Amino acid sequence: MALKGLDIFKITPKTNCKDCGNPTCMAFAMKVAQGAIALDKCPHLSDEVKAQLSEATAPPMKTIKLGVGAEEHTLGGETVLARHEKTFVSKNLFAFTVGDAMSDEANEAAFASTVVDYERIGERMYVELINVKFGGDSARYLELVKRAAGLGRTLILSVSDAAVAKEALELTKGTRPLLNGASAANAAEMAALAKEYAALLGVSAANLDELYDTVAEIEKTGFKDLVLDVSSASAGEAFADAVQIRRAALKNNDRTFGYPSLVDVGAIAPGDEDMQCALAALFTVKYGSIVVMEKMSYASALPLYGLRQNIFTDPQKPMRVEPGIYPLNGADENSVCAITVDFALTYFVVSGEMERSGVPVNLLISDAGGYSVLTAWAAGKFSASSIAKFINEEVAPKVKSRTLILPGKVAVLQGEVAEKLPDWKVVVGTREAIELVKFLKEM
Ligand code: SF4
Repeated sequence: MALKGLDIFKITPKTNCKDCGNPTCMAFAMKVAQGAIALDKCPHLSDEVKAQLSEATAPPMKTIKLGVGAEEHTLGGETVLARHEKTFVSKNLFAFTVGDAMSDEANEAAFASTVVDYERIGERMYVELINVKFGGDSARYLELVKRAAGLGRTLILSVSDAAVAKEALELTKGTRPLLNGASAANAAEMAALAKEYAALLGVSAANLDELYDTVAEIEKTGFKDLVLDVSSASAGEAFADAVQIRRAALKNNDRTFGYPSLVDVGAIAPGDEDMQCALAALFTVKYGSIVVMEKMSYASALPLYGLRQNIFTDPQKPMRVEPGIYPLNGADENSVCAITVDFALTYFVVSGEMERSGVPVNLLISDAGGYSVLTAWAAGKFSASSIAKFINEEVAPKVKSRTLILPGKVAVLQGEVAEKLPDWKVVVGTREAIELVKFLKEM
């Protein structure tokens, strides 16, 4: 049962020493209760008290690592049902499916999903997982496991036959895959296998009651690296189950359902890429920690990854890039300077267009609080004074060029900036980033 701030406060030393970075023990206790700070930030709690509190203050949904090294991903750890309440913490992962029951052509088409690989606002967008589905032909299945493992991505081994699962786990030893094949019929055997190979275990059932009982049985063995498979023949049932499980964990603090979930939208809408994309979007919002599709194309990836990035960005923190000088297209100290704000989306859109122009430019990113150009200007964070200060202190000592391009949206600042920077030629640039290529080439 989760503790309230006052319960936690009673166990703190109450010295208000501030060593935890909070002004009082009460402030610390309130933050621990909200899950905003870890208990061990107070160095004065005894091990006994920590042990007493840690279970009660742990997030209601378990945080689990899947994969290893560069392909390690975090699942779960969510504390709120809606993003606007606080933030979602572990983005959902996407998988494509290959299997021994599929034709060679279908498997090749699925493997071609690896072509989707690009960067958006500093984040790599690709299909993180490969779901290898067992259909009865163990030799062919294990060949596919070998091939998929060779691609360096983390695998989901969808197999409920313990003997085949063991061979597949042997092939993927040390990569911490997800063994998705436990049910009421084989729970103990599969849990033992997952434990032996340090894999995660996916659990499925005919209905939520059975799923609950099966998870409770597995938990009794001490193994808790679980993923709840809510895949169903119908989208409605899978959605209802995913929502109910998350609500039970977060609202009722029922830790038996406090695990990440998996939904196979490929099984719900086989052969229908558009419907799978729509369902994947649905489960990205609510609440598929892993969304399995038949395959991924750029047509599906562009909207899906954009949606995921929006949903799993902390709404309380502006997306910012570091202020400084960013030389583009081989720019040096004599290259023209163009200034904009530190809002990440502005940076990536503007730098992308500037790179497309091929013209050497020093892109100057000023500290504008992470706001867009007009918002920062309206908030007084992108003003003639802040621009002049930044140029004089950070740019002028490092750059010889004395030409500065302002964003077209703050053309109104030109006179004042020119007054504060008498050595500089201040030019008004374009209102839209897309016009930059032509502007820079003609300049
Ligand atoms: S470090 Fe511990 S004792 Fe000190 S103020 Fe924080 S909670 Fe209180």
